[in-house]
Amino acid sequence: MSDLRIRASSFGKFFDCAYSWEGEHLLGIRKPAGLRALLGTSVHAGTAAFDSARLNQSEIRPDDAAGVFIDTLHHPEYDVDFSNDNIKFTEAERIGLVLTTKYCTEIAPQFDYVAVEMSLEPLVIDCGGGVSITLTGTMDRARVAETHDGTIIPDVKTGARVVTNGEANIKSRSAQTGTYQLMYEHTTQQRTAGAQIIGLGTTSKTPIAVSPVFDARRVLVGTDEAPGLIQLAADMFRAGLFPPNPQSYLCSKTYCARWNTCIYHE
Ligand code: SF4
Repeated sequence: MSDLRIRASSFGKFFDCAYSWEGEHLLGIRKPAGLRALLGTSVHAGTAAFDSARLNQSEIRPDDAAGVFIDTLHHPEYDVDFSNDNIKFTEAERIGLVLTTKYCTEIAPQFDYVAVEMSLEPLVIDCGGGVSITLTGTMDRARVAETHDGTIIPDVKTGARVVTNGEANIKSRSAQTGTYQLMYEHTTQQRTAGAQIIGLGTTSKTPIAVSPVFDARRVLVGTDEAPGLIQLAADMFRAGLFPPNPQSYLCSKTYCARWNTCIYHE
């Protein structure tokens, strides 16, 4: 292990369960996605098409975004195990259509976006001992927005637990959004004012919510008292340590490709 290239969009998962991340991204252990993952992908495709068109000042209606959602759901670009989730296809279709429409009519108008899933300049992290990590790729599923307080990174999240009690859940989100904040700053040489989570809940009630702005960057770079996640990641990569996290909410045979051989889960 000397110079590892890592997709920026996977860095959040590294801090969720490094053992799972190692299995998927370094050892190539894969599993077909389930219908819930495809539902998320499809909602993201519809919402990104809507925001991109508006950014380019092209005409687009929520109905058009819903069409992109349906097309993606019906024609996945990766293997999907339709028996792998407790949701029927027709229900996934209904939930996704409602969420895509809600996003276009209730959430997108609240934001002044300046970029959608922006390409990022590679960011090299020197881990010491001749080991380095290069973060690459795009700001998958995230936007850049201008506000009175400065530039923020709203990250669109789908899933059953992204909205709880009417609020967008920001727990465990700082690693990913902080990575995007740092890489945006590296790419543009402009500071960000924070990050935000846009939650699109894929439960039957289709709740949506936008979190307050929070400073995810600080978690990545650390403080005088505590090392940031970048420093911790560098130490882990240099040592070749990828600890398991059986407490992760993604620790299940549905979501983890390493489940069958991992001895650490219950
Ligand atoms: S099964 Fe759980 S603990 Fe094991 S690698 Fe997967 S997420 Fe981590």
